[in-house]
Amino acid sequence: MTTITNDYYDVIVIGTGPAGFACAVRSAQLGLKTACINNRHDANNKDTHLNTGDIGTMALLDSAKKYHSLIHEYAEHGIYAKDIKLDLTIMLQRKDKILAEIGNKMIDLFNSHNIGHIHASARLLNPQQVEIIADDTQIKSVLNAKTIVLATGSEAITLANIAIDNEFIFDAKAALNINEVPCKLAIIGAGVMGLELANIWSRLGSKTVLLEAQDNFLSVLDQQISGAAFSMYQDQGLDLRLGARVISAKKSNKTITIEYQDQEGTHTLKVDKVIVACGSRPNTANLAAPEANLLLDQDGYVYVDNNCRTNLPGVYAVGDLTLLGPMLAHKGIEEGIFVADFIAGINNPINYDILPSVIYTEPEIAWIGQTEQALRAMGEPIKIAIYPLNSNIRALAIDKREGIVKIIAHAYTDQILGIHIIGTQASELIAEAVLAMEFSASSEDLARTIHARPTLSEAVHDAALTLKDRVWHHPQSLTN
Ligand code: NAD
Repeated sequence: MTTITNDYYDVIVIGTGPAGFACAVRSAQLGLKTACINNRHDANNKDTHLNTGDIGTMALLDSAKKYHSLIHEYAEHGIYAKDIKLDLTIMLQRKDKILAEIGNKMIDLFNSHNIGHIHASARLLNPQQVEIIADDTQIKSVLNAKTIVLATGSEAITLANIAIDNEFIFDAKAALNINEVPCKLAIIGAGVMGLELANIWSRLGSKTVLLEAQDNFLSVLDQQISGAAFSMYQDQGLDLRLGARVISAKKSNKTITIEYQDQEGTHTLKVDKVIVACGSRPNTANLAAPEANLLLDQDGYVYVDNNCRTNLPGVYAVGDLTLLGPMLAHKGIEEGIFVADFIAGINNPINYDILPSVIYTEPEIAWIGQTEQALRAMGEPIKIAIYPLNSNIRALAIDKREGIVKIIAHAYTDQILGIHIIGTQASELIAEAVLAMEFSASSEDLARTIHARPTLSEAVHDAALTLKDRVWHHPQSLTN
């Protein structure tokens, strides 16, 4: 039996990932009566209202880097440690504690804004009604709203012939909770997620093989950066096999046999654990009743216009559900805020052209704007400067000299068209590039901006100076 409640909301948000969370908080701040519905469970199958996104990856990466540094880098500083041990249980507990802390902060924000948070599975019935099914009692009820925001995010793509059991074969999310360091680990997919997970587990001691179906490594990146990344990861010991399409993975006793194909034929590989990181698809199964007539494309993405409006009046979609931009948490947050404002009559459009991307490996990779290959394909007249981190004195002082900053500017107007960084803390360095491009800066603007010394950000400044033929402490590297 379905109960129709008398509850009436200005905004109901379905899903509390980064996009839904931001949308709910901003809606409430604007005085809109808001509820958020979520059916998420955490790694221990406990109810949780909130999705803390990629924070688990960040927490484990930090632990893995510290462990790895202690073994491989501290002696150079004259610091010696004996009997170094890894207690993975404590490491995972630390991560979970951080997630819980952040989750609690998010719940506090919900509570302080009087946002109703409902733990249930939700389904859009029509532009004004959402059906919810309580997880515990399975009781159905219907909530009414003036506007509905769909923010159910994405789910991992699974492969036929590979059964995820999260004991031997893991999905990318469960791969943050593997309870022993695998001796031999295979990761299927060398995309962002596969590489970040490889960086964690290889630093903790797993011999890691990445099997990537595409011949082209990280094809969305500037090819110079992806080429540099490929060499650096290989030097770190990652076994990266390109053009290797996995067909099956079968468990027998405690060994997984992977079958994959490349140009030379079919191969098998035996490992202890497998992580499947083959991409994500929008979470739209069961999101709307068929009679709601929500328009999806053939891949399941929700159709939206440039204002995140679906084909149904008063129904919006944000974050990974749409093709308005890449699947990035910060894009989702911006859309969530944009939609809340839009509902309240404020129009602050998002500049999708100036959207930074980061791969959180060591070294990190971060980029904004266009790649060299895309600009050349368009026939744009460009000039390029490349500044190596091994000429940056801060990078030398902290011994993180691997990497480059690459700036691409228009050959005639000098406007910056793209900045691509590989190196330590690239995720932080890119913020300056984002700001510069948001203000349509020229490389001259960046070159005239004084940077503190000694900092890594001087490398960005020096790349801009290189474009002006004014770099003074490095042999110039300018191409056009
Ligand atoms: P992805 O699409 O970036 O990478 C998946 C890779 O798997 C692809 O390169 C694909 O060729 C490969 N693949 C697919 N089937 C295969 C097979 N049978 N054998 C071998 N390789 C196969 O997806 P992802 O890395 O899983 O990430 C999912 C989404 O989440 C992406 O949109 C990503 O940008 C986003 N994400 C972002 C961050 C970040 O911002 N740092 C972190 C994690 C994920």
